Amino acid sequence: MSRVMIHPASYENCREAVDRTFQLFPLEIAGKKVLVKPNVLRSSEPQEGITTHPAVLRAVVEKVEALKPASLIVGDNPGMFSYGQNELCFQKSGLMEAAKGYYRNIGNDSLPKDFNPDFMAKVSLSRAVVEADIVISLPKFKTHGLTVITGAIKNSYGFLPGAQKAKLHKAAGGPERFHEMLVEVFRLRVPDLVLVDAVIGMEGNGPASPDLRNIGLILASDNAVALDAVIAAMMGCDPGRLRFLQKAKEMGLGDYELKSIEISGKLIPIPGFKIPPLGGQANVSNPAVQAFIDSRTKLKPQVDPELCTACGTCIDQCAVSALFMDDGRIPVVDADTCITCFCCQEMCPEKAISLR
Ligand code: SF4
Ligand code: SF4
Repeated sequence: MSRVMIHPASYENCREAVDRTFQLFPLEIAGKKVLVKPNVLRSSEPQEGITTHPAVLRAVVEKVEALKPASLIVGDNPGMFSYGQNELCFQKSGLMEAAKGYYRNIGNDSLPKDFNPDFMAKVSLSRAVVEADIVISLPKFKTHGLTVITGAIKNSYGFLPGAQKAKLHKAAGGPERFHEMLVEVFRLRVPDLVLVDAVIGMEGNGPASPDLRNIGLILASDNAVALDAVIAAMMGCDPGRLRFLQKAKEMGLGDYELKSIEISGKLIPIPGFKIPPLGGQANVSNPAVQAFIDSRTKLKPQVDPELCTACGTCIDQCAVSALFMDDGRIPVVDADTCITCFCCQEMCPEKAISLR
């Protein structure tokens, strides 16, 4: 039986909830490589409630630090709005300071991974994710137009650098397949612990809605499926109606049935919580949303010959060998092979690569 913790917390005092999390879900951190991954959707201020709050990150970092890991990395790959702006996103959201010097740009080094060819034959996963012994995921308690909730499973989408996210969006097509694709990404590296910032949550048309809700909780579990089921129930949504939870259960990743989950704390649905329509049809069929996704998938890296020194870093870095040096000693991209991870852009020491 999976267990989910629901614990009162504020941003002034979230250490107690973090301590309780590590009591209920102990991890052998000493001597291990640890990655802590907040939700950094895009460049935004902490009070906008779009990203994990820095107070929660700081409390987790200090807890992990005290347990003497061999190494600690704090990182994320921002979503479709902020490619190549990793540092800016962390700075504006207050997460850079909260990371206490452990921040790394995990978007600039990645490894290829076989994926479900129904969507894409290969994806590129941040090396920090692949090489971590322990992954701690810190999602935000929010709604999402396509998936209704964005919690534990959806936070793993940020393991993919760059525009692969937009490309997968497009490859998925409709909402049902998008839910299924999310689970395929999640299972590439299932996090060892998930701790949700539900101190201030988001309702309405998330994941970047202005409708914030004071909830005053931190949720945690070592099973993301159970945790997302609890988030859904708190939002007043039947977890069994969410395709990504059905799919995760079919794949043996956990159970969304509330009767199979032990709750440490009190599960109380939030009165009148506003959620997007199930299935996300309204959002997907919105021509502006579709045009935005299309525009992101058409982006390709392009090298400025004035700035490029032909150092070859981008070619070495490309996980799928989509870059090669042409006769003019300038890297060019094979558009058919490129999976638009944009790691090359993040890596270029001369800032010679832009997105066109
Ligand atoms: S990393 Fe930058 S400078 Fe080096 S070859 Fe690639 S584009 Fe040119
Ligand atoms: S060319 Fe650049 S964006 Fe395309 S796959 Fe290679 S590293 Fe990623």
